[in-house]
Amino acid sequence: MTDTDLRPAPKVSFVSLGCPKALVDSERIITRLRAEGYELTRSHAGADVVIVNTCGFLDSAKQESLDAIGTAMNENGKVIVTGCMGAEPEQIAERFPNVLAITGPQAYESVLEKVHVAAPPAHDPFLDLVPPQGIKLTPRHYAYLKISEGCNNRCSFCIIPKLRGDLVSRPLAEVMREAEKLVNAGVKELLVISQDTSAYGIDLKYQESRWRDRDWRTKFIDLATALGELGVWVRMHYVYPYPHVDEVMPLMAEGKILPYLDIPFQHASASVLKAMRRPASQDKTLQRIRDWRAVCPDLTIRSTFITGFPGETEADFEELLAFLDEARIERAGCFTYEPVKGATANDLGLPPVPAEVAAIRHKRFMERQQQVSLRLQRAKVGKRLQVIIDEMGTTVAKGRSKADAPEIDGKVYVSTRRPLRPGDIVSVKIERAEAYDLHGVAG
Ligand code: SF4
Repeated sequence: MTDTDLRPAPKVSFVSLGCPKALVDSERIITRLRAEGYELTRSHAGADVVIVNTCGFLDSAKQESLDAIGTAMNENGKVIVTGCMGAEPEQIAERFPNVLAITGPQAYESVLEKVHVAAPPAHDPFLDLVPPQGIKLTPRHYAYLKISEGCNNRCSFCIIPKLRGDLVSRPLAEVMREAEKLVNAGVKELLVISQDTSAYGIDLKYQESRWRDRDWRTKFIDLATALGELGVWVRMHYVYPYPHVDEVMPLMAEGKILPYLDIPFQHASASVLKAMRRPASQDKTLQRIRDWRAVCPDLTIRSTFITGFPGETEADFEELLAFLDEARIERAGCFTYEPVKGATANDLGLPPVPAEVAAIRHKRFMERQQQVSLRLQRAKVGKRLQVIIDEMGTTVAKGRSKADAPEIDGKVYVSTRRPLRPGDIVSVKIERAEAYDLHGVAG
């Protein structure tokens, strides 16, 4: 036994804020820290260093990030800041001149370097102690799979391309090796994420790479096909309705990947979408959705929308409500427009929508969406659905159907006489429906 083995493992407290994409960054940093012998602790007090992974997407998220840094400074004082807000270090340095370091998004290496200086590792990297899939913040039975960084689009309300740069895709074989490791480690559901999943591989000119003795293009359809070979649930997030998305519908209909698409439509009115500079503009969107459903009738569409975008008229808003019905948007989130600093939408010269009007529209949107959802949920009563279990209670387990992504969609409450474990996939007879949740019996 050497001297270094006798030293206690340095402790790191980690705060992860923001979207699932930021969570994947956190997981990567944590995986590495664990690999190097660090111990993760839940409290700032007593930790050798605190890392705050920030989110800078909306002003409210920035405030939350600044608050988290403030708490870490008060309770500990040795703080490293990373993530989206780290791309604008002045704001942080001004408020907290004593933070140890500020690094930008995707700067894993520099975060690790700073940690090494603040709290040197207890012993040499001992990679074999770490399970190959790494230490994850998400429950063991599902995992986020990040396929690319950055974005080539320039939506006028968004500053992500400024913060994260243009699209950089990971070659397909690299993504598949990570996915395989996760599945071998017990993951039953993979959630594919990126800023624009359907644009995957454009930057690499769909370059081929080898996985399982075959050459695959770094392309959305190849990725969906390859993931479909793993035998687990595969859920696609942040897809745009580009024509080539049609190609994945047969895979969904055959059960290779989940019949679920998360498409951030943001609006339905052509003039608002134009002002938003959205990719894959919508004139043919409704027809495209109808065609998808003709191939895959069980398709669930989740989306996010913004109400109160500058220039949005009552007629534009009515169009959006009608779209919810016609497109059967089963799951939807709605944000009231926030003029994010640095976004080009602020300079379009369009009349702002008064805050009260935007708030009322938000409420009307949610009411309408709830009606759409309830109608579709009720149609599931009496059917048998496959449900993946997230949590077991004494007689009722909490899970999700294929139509529900974790954390953002509804739940299925499953009465059961036998104990179920997280990650079990069971057949459930649905007995009752609410707007977002379902209730049923296993077996
Ligand atoms: S697609 Fe638009 S909203 Fe999404 S990250 Fe890119 S620029 Fe931002």
